[in-house]
Amino acid sequence: MPELRPEIAAMPGYHSPQVDVPIRLNTNESPFPPPEAFVSEFTEALQDVSWNRYPDRTASRLRDRLAAYHGVQPEQLFVANGSNEVLQTILLAYAGPGRRVVVFEPGYQMHVQIARILGSEVIVIERNEDFTLDGAHVREVLREVQPHLVFLSSPNNPTGQCDDESMIDIIGEATDAMLVVDEAYAEFSSWSAIERALHSDRIVVSRTFSKTWSLAALRLGYLVGSSDVIDHLWTAVLPYHLDSMKQIAGELALKFTDDMNERVSLIVSERERVQTALIELDVDVSPSSANFVLFKTRRDADFMWSALLDHGVLVRNCSSWPRLEGWLRLTIGTEDENNAFLAGLQSALEKE
Ligand code: PMP
Repeated sequence: MPELRPEIAAMPGYHSPQVDVPIRLNTNESPFPPPEAFVSEFTEALQDVSWNRYPDRTASRLRDRLAAYHGVQPEQLFVANGSNEVLQTILLAYAGPGRRVVVFEPGYQMHVQIARILGSEVIVIERNEDFTLDGAHVREVLREVQPHLVFLSSPNNPTGQCDDESMIDIIGEATDAMLVVDEAYAEFSSWSAIERALHSDRIVVSRTFSKTWSLAALRLGYLVGSSDVIDHLWTAVLPYHLDSMKQIAGELALKFTDDMNERVSLIVSERERVQTALIELDVDVSPSSANFVLFKTRRDADFMWSALLDHGVLVRNCSSWPRLEGWLRLTIGTEDENNAFLAGLQSALEKE
């Protein structure tokens, strides 16, 4: 048997424990199912699929719909199986041995993991103590490293914070790198880099149907960028990578924009309520612009995670991640779920 490639052997892997509990607030999904009308239209549309044929290789109808939704050209859109595959395809096209990839930490670990699997060199720029970025430090490191790719999540996972928009200019001025703005949670926040991506070859923006669109089970994501970059991604990705079901579901989902916007508002108001309640309980909170909240109590994170689990609430224990000792991450759920979380947290804090 051949030896495992060293890049893979060194991997910790991506582990999010899926414990069977009533209230799962650990993976940043939407707490709401998609609208019933979406589900019935989707199942009906499946009757028309030519199952013996490969899917439309470039997902043209889905891209047309997405283009209309964002006010861009279909040539400026790439689609794939979740934004993770979008990110992987960018890295396949532009990273690999001899290429340098910059990430900010704490940040989304898949950027690092895929870059390393492909043999790229990963350079980490540390965030400040409060998880913001120091523009002068970022500029200095980027000038020195001259990376090929820079990943910036906005809002950032797991901190939930949005960096200042000026960070895009700072990065753009300091390097010739391509900047990948990972906007998995953009709908919950105040700014997007899509407009900039339309006017620059060096900025691309990834989005997903997993959060706002209540379709994590679907695995569908996309990228907005210049048509040249998009062409490169079509070359790098496998042929017929996106099945017909996803293409149909994505097209249909975009008919339900109003329902989704309503859910985003609900989640944002719940997020604000939960943040306020946490602060009243004397818990440290990283101010969130996403559908989750990173928090730290005065008690040990492993203890809090288990105590919440005893209350039937599963959150993400981030305590072993770089720079996050003591921190836990809560996905905002329904009002009842959030209340159960707050009750569980309060009783855990009071436990002897
Ligand atoms: N980027 C970020 C920052 C994320 O938090 C996630 C979800 N954990 C993803 C990308 C991947 O999302 P998906 O593959 O479901 O589209």
